[in-house]
Amino acid sequence: MNQEISVNNQPQKSLLIPILIGIFCGILLGGFLPFWGKEIYFIGEIFINALLMLVTPLVITSMISSITGLGDIRLLKGMGLKTLTLYMITTGIAVILGLMLVVIIQPGVADTEAERLLLRGGQLLQNASYSIEPNNQVNVENDTFRKSFDDRYLVVLKDQNIVGKIDPSGENNQRSILVQEWQDSEGKIVTPETKGKGLVIDLTIAQKLSGKENSSIIDTLKRVVMSLLPKNLFQAMANNDVLPLIVISLIFGAILTTLDRGIILIDFFEVLNKAILKIVDLILLFSPVGIGALIAGRLGQAGGFSGFATEFLSLWKYSGTVILGLFLHGFIILPFLFYFITKGKPPFLFFRRMLPALTTAFSTASSSATIPVTLECAIKNNKINPKIADFVIPLSATVNMDGTALYEAVAAVFIAQIYGIELNLGQMIIIFLTATLAAIGAAGIPEAGLVTMVIVLKAVNIPVEGISLILVIDWFLDRCRTTVNVWGDAVVAAMVDKLESEVPHR
Ligand code: ASP
Repeated sequence: MNQEISVNNQPQKSLLIPILIGIFCGILLGGFLPFWGKEIYFIGEIFINALLMLVTPLVITSMISSITGLGDIRLLKGMGLKTLTLYMITTGIAVILGLMLVVIIQPGVADTEAERLLLRGGQLLQNASYSIEPNNQVNVENDTFRKSFDDRYLVVLKDQNIVGKIDPSGENNQRSILVQEWQDSEGKIVTPETKGKGLVIDLTIAQKLSGKENSSIIDTLKRVVMSLLPKNLFQAMANNDVLPLIVISLIFGAILTTLDRGIILIDFFEVLNKAILKIVDLILLFSPVGIGALIAGRLGQAGGFSGFATEFLSLWKYSGTVILGLFLHGFIILPFLFYFITKGKPPFLFFRRMLPALTTAFSTASSSATIPVTLECAIKNNKINPKIADFVIPLSATVNMDGTALYEAVAAVFIAQIYGIELNLGQMIIIFLTATLAAIGAAGIPEAGLVTMVIVLKAVNIPVEGISLILVIDWFLDRCRTTVNVWGDAVVAAMVDKLESEVPHR
């Protein structure tokens, strides 16, 4: 191996503080000045583009140099088996954790009619005290109302648990609304008491998913298997389809080791791999600004802090359940497995050295776009054997998604709860299996998990339209789960590194 290859493994200067400052500034800008947050989003897009540009060449060269560097190709079997087993264990635990939390917390079970309507995609427009006149004219004590109503709007008397449909042709203005009739939670017509605390709810259900309703488990399995070998390699490269590139690179690398003159190309790919990682180094210098701009932009799109709070609060129990699950998995289960398998290495230090990758995952919402940074942090900061990281990380980015699996399980049961569907143990087991599969099938791109969730819902006959109920906050949960996905990838790489001591170091 020539000298040029070995000079690259210098630890990278810590970017932690600049990245944290970037995130802090991004949150402040997007939160307080949403317009300016949106304006600077393009800076973040430059950062994402720079990373995406490197995904294809990096995956190909990493995989080839990982295989050709093993020395004995039979080592691949042990490494592959251990990697897949750890994927299954970590993802399985994540789904079980998600299921336990959603069953205990019951975020989709509503105690009152108002809660039920809000969970079903209603938007809260007003929360105030009312007095009701005999002709059903409702006087509102607060006058921050919109004037035009149609029949999607409801007045809900919280303390009496009854609902009134607004008469769109009635005398409706900022202070009073005409209600057609009042109904209790069983649909019986009732007369309300003349005063009450109430809400006005807009029953707009978020836009429906289109064209995805027909995919089933078999379709998804077929799609995953067929995508392993693409019709056109260049198209796979152009689309950054990581899985087929992994397969073809593994085959290509293995064949190179059997050719007499293969060494020429083996050296070529190894040097190319190092050169690309150098470019990643350069891009990372820009990461504090890029990450900050992405966060400012997305927060700006949500309407700053107030817009984000409205989105979050409309589904706070559900979002809280997902976030609690991700937190427990990321901060307790994965560190415990890490500590146990690496025989006492401190997980916190490992976590800190992975932070540039984790913050990139949070800001891009894409495991695939994060591959270059994950590799960089795993190899340079955490000193994982490059032969192992080069194999495990790109594969993990598309196959190992603990956060997505946990989220799919929580979301599916949450939607079932909203629709009042009781799930038995058999259906829970089906959710466990399909959520795992849906996470494997999800590409490492933004909101891919939302689409593959159709598989889980269909498998247990939960209405697919239910996905529309969780759309509003998905952009945020996507970022959280992508961070845990990438953290899980790094932990698996470290564990395989420990378990595969026979693999030669580069
Ligand atoms: N955005 C996630 C990822 O790239 C996938 C998902 O939507 O859950 O890891």
